[in-house]
Amino acid sequence: MTYVICEPCIDVKDQSCVEACPVDCIHPYENDPDFADHRQLYIDPDVCIECGACEPVCPVSAIRQDSDVPVEWRRFIQINADYFKR
Ligand code: SF4
Ligand code: SF4
Repeated sequence: MTYVICEPCIDVKDQSCVEACPVDCIHPYENDPDFADHRQLYIDPDVCIECGACEPVCPVSAIRQDSDVPVEWRRFIQINADYFKR
């Protein structure tokens, strides 16, 4: 179980969720070298403690618990996980 960042984050990337996360599992950070290479941010499913702090601070409602991700966004569960497998 984890939280997942879905399609609305694309080209928004305002980092509000990064500041809210107590375990720093949302990447890339704004000062990371690959920040510009990605159109959205991702949550590390192996580190996320499911506290839910990120969900209400997202201005575009991009963040959902994995069990609550709508069908049209289900692919983002894998997209988030893949970022951390590199
Ligand atoms: S649910 Fe909590 S731990 Fe998981 S990404 Fe959001 S703020 Fe971080
Ligand atoms: S708060 Fe929402 S839009 Fe902003 S970076 Fe996080 S997921 Fe993306």
